[in-house]
Amino acid sequence: MPGRCIIRINVAVSPIKPARRDTFEAKLAEVRPRQPIPRDAAIELICCSDGDLPELLAAARAAKERFKPIEITYSRKVFIPLTNLCRDYCGYCTFRRDPGDSGAHTMTPDEVLEVAHAGERLGCTEALFSLGDKPELLFPQMRETLRHLGYKSTLHYLEAMCELVLRETSLLPHPNPGLLSSEWVARLANVSPSMGLMLETTNTSLLGPGKAHDNAPDKAPAKRLRTIEEAGKQSVPFTTGVLIGIGESLEDRVDTLLAIRELHERYGHIQEVIVQNFRTKPTIPMAQWPEPSQGEMLRTVAVARLLLPNVNIQAPPNLSAPYYEELIDAGINDWGGVSPLTPDFINPEKPWPHLEQLRLRTEAKRAVLRQRLPVYPEFVGAVLGKPGLLSERLREATADDGLARRAA
Ligand code: SF4
Repeated sequence: MPGRCIIRINVAVSPIKPARRDTFEAKLAEVRPRQPIPRDAAIELICCSDGDLPELLAAARAAKERFKPIEITYSRKVFIPLTNLCRDYCGYCTFRRDPGDSGAHTMTPDEVLEVAHAGERLGCTEALFSLGDKPELLFPQMRETLRHLGYKSTLHYLEAMCELVLRETSLLPHPNPGLLSSEWVARLANVSPSMGLMLETTNTSLLGPGKAHDNAPDKAPAKRLRTIEEAGKQSVPFTTGVLIGIGESLEDRVDTLLAIRELHERYGHIQEVIVQNFRTKPTIPMAQWPEPSQGEMLRTVAVARLLLPNVNIQAPPNLSAPYYEELIDAGINDWGGVSPLTPDFINPEKPWPHLEQLRLRTEAKRAVLRQRLPVYPEFVGAVLGKPGLLSERLREATADDGLARRAA
């Protein structure tokens, strides 16, 4: 079925309606050390005026310093785009291809190993597997590719490639495979210490005609919440997050963060929450869509920190370049995966900063850059308790403080 995601609306849908100064002050005064703020406070704060923004940022940075003083982490990774075929057609995606499109590709095992070995030589510790969601359900060509490779599905192939990387290199896999059943959460957890799925938004109207998730059945919020919950039931360290600027409201951003918080309170498995900002590209259906402003991004990060004061908050520096260090002011404690080797295949026009630049700009904000593993230190212990190759590799890669054995 051809993609039919045509974005028709091109006006900003989430204008900031500044909160009144007295309401803002009252809600900010309610912030308590290490205590998550309630929904009504989050909604007031995310609507704050430009004049009030410095105070919001100061509260968020203070919360970050109580959580993880001084340190800002990143994961040195290689990006392994296992297949860019995908059955979904998200309106903002440049990664996906149909079979026959220019650049459509499914990596061979040799290509996977080649990238992983190159990353190893550059001190990487993470193999980030990114891939489209279940392309074989839509494309006979993918079924044929998988048959040729000897696998029943993309997930079977992913599992084998994670195991290959574990066996043949020192890298630790972190797959982002899309929706997963409980069986697949368990299978992938045997070959990777952590995994991820962006919740993106809880706004179901974005699945409607002409919206960002039109013709993207795997982006139904309830299905994504089920996968995240399944990971929680199995205590799998899990990365998720919110994607801002795709047609959701400010309240939606707060509600998406609250949905993540609710699952984390129940299962304690959310190792990281990413705040990702939509960036436009000329080739996407949403090419005319306005990007969220830097102020919107900073407000969302700050409110995420106050909603989740004891959770790792990440924002990708390349999507906020050249002013990415201001994200530290808003309370992030992690830059996410940064590759010295492979481009960001999801946002290829936004190169990652050079690691030395990242270090200098982190230090300019009175912080210290440290290299972590794909699994965060507070979750390493649980994975080390598992038998087999995964825990062996993790033990070899982990320093005494739970971060990467290699120095930043
Ligand atoms: S964002 Fe992910 S699910 Fe959506 S089209 Fe791109 S690869 Fe597929």
